[in-house]
Amino acid sequence: MYLVTIGLEVHCQVNTRTKMFCACATSFGDEPNVNICPTCLGLPGALPVLNQVAIEKTILSGMMLDCTTPPISKWDRKNYFYPDMPKNYQTTQMELPLCIGGNVPLYDHCYPADAQKSIQRPNQIIRLNRIHLEEDVAKSTHLGNASLIDFNRAGTPLMEIVTEPDLESAEEAFAYLRSLQMILVQGGVSDADMEKGQMRCDVNISLRRNASDPLGAKVELKNLNSTSAVRRAIHFEIERQTEELNAGIAQIQSTRRWDDDRGETQMMRTKEDAHDYRYFPCPDLLPLTTTEIVDRMKKVVPELPHARAARYQQDFSLTLYDANVLSSDIHLARYFEETLAPAIPAKKTANFLINNLLGTINERNIPIQECAVTPTRMRGLLALVENGTLAANQAREVLIVMLETPDKSAAEIADELGYKPTDTGALQELCDQIIAQFPDKVAEIQAGNDRLLNFLTGQLMKASTSKPNPKMVTDVLREKILPSA
Ligand code: ZN
Ligand code: MN
Repeated sequence: MYLVTIGLEVHCQVNTRTKMFCACATSFGDEPNVNICPTCLGLPGALPVLNQVAIEKTILSGMMLDCTTPPISKWDRKNYFYPDMPKNYQTTQMELPLCIGGNVPLYDHCYPADAQKSIQRPNQIIRLNRIHLEEDVAKSTHLGNASLIDFNRAGTPLMEIVTEPDLESAEEAFAYLRSLQMILVQGGVSDADMEKGQMRCDVNISLRRNASDPLGAKVELKNLNSTSAVRRAIHFEIERQTEELNAGIAQIQSTRRWDDDRGETQMMRTKEDAHDYRYFPCPDLLPLTTTEIVDRMKKVVPELPHARAARYQQDFSLTLYDANVLSSDIHLARYFEETLAPAIPAKKTANFLINNLLGTINERNIPIQECAVTPTRMRGLLALVENGTLAANQAREVLIVMLETPDKSAAEIADELGYKPTDTGALQELCDQIIAQFPDKVAEIQAGNDRLLNFLTGQLMKASTSKPNPKMVTDVLREKILPSA
């Protein structure tokens, strides 16, 4: 058996309207090569201008992840030759990145569903090495012998988020990406959608026999574009390296590509070291003073999912699971908080949203922020549950109609469906009638068979012209038949 050491480098597009060093649009899905100019095409003599928003959002990301920002940040050229980078260098940050240190919490609910029960290190924190800002390259498409290049993406602001080698399994890498995604999306700094290539991941992985041994040769897996690919690629690589090491084949520092269809990694090249890139300070961009931006961003750091979950647990006595569900999506969290009302216990509100609302809108593919049942209308519905007009299953029925008739309130719909506010006098009378009608059942209940209360409740529901809340009916019946209980 070997110990597995994994570090991740995540490239993540910063959510900006324009590119990192020019005013071209960053929109996704346009015709090829329409959002271009001399700067992002890398034409000789074109000068870069810094995108202020990209810098702000990167610093904000660093604050959310507990990084520090050095007072001065610098830009460097990383030299290499590749068709998707016509300048033959990438403008990036080597020595003085925008963010240093920091960490990412691994949220337990972000592990793969099938790994939830076997989390090795619950509530683990992964240390970050740095976050720097750079520019994305163009997109190449290979067709037979030809390659097509689309420069729309070239120059898009890209944060590179680099961990320390703190991860120990494929499942932790998966949870890391999902947790990071959640945090970046909540901060509004990136959409971090791996499907759209907004977030891509390089995996560094090495094996060694004992914790006291130096780290094994590092194998880098390039440009993985989904969390499940990352998980599968790591599993494959651990197995491959284990077999080779067992057979006495030493690993060498190298870069491999993941072939998703074949489910295997393939050798690309033996890895170059940093000095091969001949980094040097970018002569076109002045070092950046960050103090003023840091002060400004401090005021807008959003609450993170785990802080919010802790607050929900503390303030509303929610279970950790429920608190995590509600805080994992910023829109859902806002919805929950706007729905809260003094007259309705928060726990009941949480339960109804998790058990009834989420399932109902997920079945219909309605995002919570577009849900026709607004927090105000939801409050109206929950009030009817609270005052006993509706039982939980009846409330779900009303909810479904509310989704389809946005102009009516919960009370109007409940009324139309025949759910009236319970007339307690009438209910008492009905209960007396039913008790008189089934003396043998009443006797059995009094002898200890209280499951028959459900039978009597059913009989009353049939006999009633209104639709009383069955739980209330059972309560009144029990009170009458077993007054001591
Ligand atoms: Zn441009
Ligand atoms: Mn990079």
